[in-house]
Amino acid sequence: MTSQPLLTVDDLWISYDRIAAVRGVSFAVQEGDIVTLIGANGAGKSTILRALSGLLPVSQGTVLFAGQDLLSLPAHRRTQAGIAHVPEGRGIFGNLTVLENLRLAAYARRDAQIEADLEEVFRLFPRLAERRRQWGNTLSGGEQQMLAVGRALMSRARLLLLDEPSMGLAPMLVREIFRVIRRLNKAGATILLVEQNARLALEIAHQAYILETGRIVLAGPSRTLQDHPQVREAYLGV
Ligand code: ATP
Repeated sequence: MTSQPLLTVDDLWISYDRIAAVRGVSFAVQEGDIVTLIGANGAGKSTILRALSGLLPVSQGTVLFAGQDLLSLPAHRRTQAGIAHVPEGRGIFGNLTVLENLRLAAYARRDAQIEADLEEVFRLFPRLAERRRQWGNTLSGGEQQMLAVGRALMSRARLLLLDEPSMGLAPMLVREIFRVIRRLNKAGATILLVEQNARLALEIAHQAYILETGRIVLAGPSRTLQDHPQVREAYLGV
């Protein structure tokens, strides 16, 4: 049985000035899946995430999120609809404490689970618990990344858009972040993951799309793509 995907992107075109960075991209994300977009620098991965969260206009195409026409909604309505974007560069508030950053991410929620989720973030990232009263801008790069992922958890979003969560992190922290991503997914979040670390992304994702200069050139279950000669040569260095 295949249900309607949570997110369906069809023939998406996005330009900066007159240069098309994304050229007719189509893909789908099933509820409960981790889907990864893989590609070299400049392939258009971040551009797609920015357009989905409403930070960039789209020149052509349609996007359905939970049956809704996403592109007709302004950015803040997309957040309310259940989309959380963890941008490259992390997007945390440097002049708020760790605790304030986490609470702010839950501002739109009306449920009784906020305190329990806060405890869950601190359990997943003990370092954030130790630093809960520290300003965001005094955290190390790795800690800021943990905080960004913690904020995504606090938002209880239905769809998480994660942009290069491993960027600039020491290998041990990279593995920690990927473990948490898997746990977020197991707890119910659907995840669209943009990564340059193709090896790890393919390990945790269910489906993958390979992007080259704004177009999807390969797509399929991650397991299948892991064994694809083109992927092995270009992205896994095998
Ligand atoms: P990276 O991992 O390096 O961020 P990416 O796959 O996410 O790569 P994008 O950042 O989406 O790639 O960039 C896609 C293309 O759009 C690139 O050619 C890039 O130079 C161009 N581009 C990105 N941002 C802008 C901008 N603000 N103005 C003009 N061109 C841009």
